[in-house]
Amino acid sequence: MNSIEIESQFTSGLYTKRPIAIVRGKGARLWDSEGREYIDCVGGQGAANIGHANPQVVQAIFEQAATLISCPEMFYNDRRAALEERLCRLTGLPRVFLCNSGTEAVEAAIKFSRLATGRQEIVACMRAFHGRTFGALSATWEKKYREPFEPLVPGFRHVPYNNLEALDAAVGPSTAAVILEVVQGEGGVNPASTEFLRGAQQLCRQRGSLLIIDEVQTGFGRTGRMFAFQHHNLQPDLLCLAKSIAGGIPMGAVLMGDRVGELPPQTHGSTFGGNPLACAASLATIDFIETNHLPERAAELGEWFLGALMRLESPLIRDVRGLGLMVGIELRQKVTPYLQSLMNEGILALPAGLTVIRFLPPLVIDKEDLEVVVEKTRKVLDA
Ligand SMILES: *Cc1c(COP(=O)(O)O)cnc(C)c1O
Repeated sequence: MNSIEIESQFTSGLYTKRPIAIVRGKGARLWDSEGREYIDCVGGQGAANIGHANPQVVQAIFEQAATLISCPEMFYNDRRAALEERLCRLTGLPRVFLCNSGTEAVEAAIKFSRLATGRQEIVACMRAFHGRTFGALSATWEKKYREPFEPLVPGFRHVPYNNLEALDAAVGPSTAAVILEVVQGEGGVNPASTEFLRGAQQLCRQRGSLLIIDEVQTGFGRTGRMFAFQHHNLQPDLLCLAKSIAGGIPMGAVLMGDRVGELPPQTHGSTFGGNPLACAASLATIDFIETNHLPERAAELGEWFLGALMRLESPLIRDVRGLGLMVGIELRQKVTPYLQSLMNEGILALPAGLTVIRFLPPLVIDKEDLEVVVEKTRKVLDA
């Protein structure tokens, strides 16, 4: 049996899979078990900003694996110390909690906001995606993710995205936090307006609530800045990071501002959180992003790519939008057959909801590859 047959027999069944087995990657290219080459615009769902098989990060992982992999936070560690300092300087926030995924980062931020404020309610947005564990799921909007698991955590409500008036009406004396994505990813590649984000920050400060910014998908150069909140000059109280933080090694982080205050010892934790392997991978990833100016690259290439897609004239296209190399094409119909056709043309891309084609290429992608993506997209939408 080949990998597709074996996985089909033994996997959970939770994922809708595409009928190829990816076995190797390099930069923004992937290869399947038949030797077919693809231009990767899935980018590990946002975890592969620095590209596949990145030599510097491979070397850092290799060296750290041979030195020390496990070291719980009851001990100090050299790699963790270096990363904590690096993340704090990079974000301008004074403290950090390390974990292992995006949903865990959101889960921790929700718990910290309840701890810090003594309040219970969380305000999130319609179409938001924050993860699938119970707390993060309660902040997530999509019914199909939520309904089978109800009752969820009490105290969550959702307001329309980019609607400051609705947010104003929802934030009150029991609001622990407002949680927002700077650009909604899974929800359809929807950028927030500066007015909405800065208004949310001001509301939180006036009413004693904390602002949680979820940059699990938008972080580490994706949108053309190291972090998307920097486009809007925000100062989040809690900042959730994961996906590309450690070059594809599982890791998450919550950065905390001064308004969070002291967290009582033993109130939260994680066995794998802050392990030296992930910390070493993250340090090498941040080095690579900075040395190669990946945020600037994402800004430049993203502007070109977005413009080129906007010039596609297809009656199927309802809207083209994005920020940096996080780009979506909203169609007037379901995207699944078009993603399939793109794959047949050697382009791997993601959906965002039912009607949006989402491109999240590694930020190291060449302009020539993006030109091919535009041409193939034109072809597929014309067919
Ligand atoms: C992917 C994602 C998450 C969840 O991350 P996991 O590592 O899959 O748990 C949370 N928030 C946002 C904005 C995401 O894009």
